[in-house]
Amino acid sequence: MAETSTNLQTIKIYTSYWRKYPGTIAGCMLIGPAYALQVIVSPLFIAKALGQLVNHQPINNNYLWYAGLTMLGGAILQYVSDHGFIMRFCNFVTRDLYNVTITHLLRQEYGFFANSFSGSLVAQANRFAKGYEAFSDAVFLESLGLLCGVLVALGVMIYYNPLLGSAVALLWAVSIAIVAYLAIRRMPVRRAAVAKESQQTGELADVISNAVTVKTFAQEAEEERRYDLTNLVRSKYYYRSWGRAVNNAFAINLLCIALQLLVFIGGIMAVRHGTLSIAMFLLFQVYILRVIDSLGKAAMVVRKLEGTLGDTQEMTVLLGRQSQIVDPEHPEPSKIAKGAIALTNVTFGYDLHSKNSPALLKNFNLHIEPGERVGLVGPSGGGKTTLTKLMLRFNDVQDGIITIDGQDIRVIRQDDLHNAISYVPQEPLLFHRSIRENIGYGDTAASEAAIITAAKQAHAHEFISSLPNGYDTLVGERGIKLSGGQRQRIAIARAMIKKAPILVLDEATSALDSESEIYIQDGLWKLMQGKTALVIAHRLSTIQKMDRIVVLDNGRITETGTHKQLVAKKRLYARLWTHQSGGFLEE
Ligand code: ADP
Ligand code: MG
Repeated sequence: MAETSTNLQTIKIYTSYWRKYPGTIAGCMLIGPAYALQVIVSPLFIAKALGQLVNHQPINNNYLWYAGLTMLGGAILQYVSDHGFIMRFCNFVTRDLYNVTITHLLRQEYGFFANSFSGSLVAQANRFAKGYEAFSDAVFLESLGLLCGVLVALGVMIYYNPLLGSAVALLWAVSIAIVAYLAIRRMPVRRAAVAKESQQTGELADVISNAVTVKTFAQEAEEERRYDLTNLVRSKYYYRSWGRAVNNAFAINLLCIALQLLVFIGGIMAVRHGTLSIAMFLLFQVYILRVIDSLGKAAMVVRKLEGTLGDTQEMTVLLGRQSQIVDPEHPEPSKIAKGAIALTNVTFGYDLHSKNSPALLKNFNLHIEPGERVGLVGPSGGGKTTLTKLMLRFNDVQDGIITIDGQDIRVIRQDDLHNAISYVPQEPLLFHRSIRENIGYGDTAASEAAIITAAKQAHAHEFISSLPNGYDTLVGERGIKLSGGQRQRIAIARAMIKKAPILVLDEATSALDSESEIYIQDGLWKLMQGKTALVIAHRLSTIQKMDRIVVLDNGRITETGTHKQLVAKKRLYARLWTHQSGGFLEE
């Protein structure tokens, strides 16, 4: 049932574009008369001439003219229809649909992407846009023309021999119903096969993106074995699906034979009784070929529609998915100026639905003054990254409130919030675009000089300049062609170029050697001037000079104070410090 409503939804989305291009759609519809004129009406004139020939009458030349003109007229209409259909209509709508999918996907919240395979999403989006062509093809090219032709043919047959014509019409209608029924019965089987295929695609994308890991652990054979298991399941489902298709094709063949025999035997009897002329008998034989053609086509159309609808189902469901994090209906104008951040009584857990998973943060409080620079440290898994994601509204708090400059972050637009925060994530990813574009992403209007300055401050200019293509170097998917440290430096430059009052760095320098880090420190320090900064670091030297250091352990603040105060407290921070400074004197 859910599937039916999803299919209807897909049809609704697809057909909504018909209204958008009314002119071209009218052109497409010409396929009906075009087909009827060419293959049904023109043979009628030929049969008329043939009738005169058989009866040894003089042939009326007009019939031949009519036959030629209807063929030519049909061809011209078909040309107009093809023009409207293939060149414009499909093309325009397909473009629209590609755009609709990216728009919708990009509006989904952070958690959605954390839980989806990107390869599978890409495949779904493509199938959805491509599916339109198959859908319209089935509706216009395959159905409309043939249906129009068959109806005219049946009309002509009924006109010339009501009894035989009606019998053919009846058997045809029943056959179409049977064909449709069989094809529809196959739908769930085929859909299950598509779902398995989608799963396989996702798995392949996952393995391919982890190819380097596979290699390092010499797991090629194991991954192949695993993949083959999924592949086998997919293949079994497809086997079943095609099995049904083959059976259906056989049933259709039987129906075609019945229709042909009806017209053949019925026709001969009618000729014997003098209710059908020889010429019309021959015409009926020609028509019945078109009529049985429609059965095979009907099966194909249903299969195509069903295939398309099955293919597009996942995307249609996604298009109906509302992002878990949405802008308020009437967003307030953002008041973020200085960046006073306050988390008050915040409770948050990733999976609060399941009873036995306790909240990660419970009645959590952290207030950061405007312009204050706060360092955040603590054991991994303590909730540091989660905290930054809550500030960015990548997740919403389940209880409590987060305000920036006194304004609840849920009352402003997410774009305004994100524009106000310069963020370097723990594992920065880069676009497969040039380094210049990757850095400039922080401010699309940035000049070349500004990009280079940022790169210099992030201590990235040197290595970029040493690359053969310099700032034009393409970094590979997700930035794979760069080292972790290089990626981080570009991400820092990208954040530096962004003009935002708040800076959030999540272990932004973790992959750098101490020397590079010291260089970057200068740049970062300059960047923090006049900004509110939250810097998560693993290496304590990074945050030593911060106005305040907060120790987060297991979702709780266990210590807070300046470096000196915390060292004096001789608790977790002091222990970590002694460890890390390894016997070196504190400054
Ligand atoms: P830290 O940055 O301090 O190392 P995180 O905030 O990344 O810690 O993680 C805190 C806890 O939340 C961890 O136990 C982690 O497994 C869990 N966690 C992080 N992200 C997700 C997620 N998207 N879904 C479910 N659990 C998550
Ligand atoms: Mg983290």
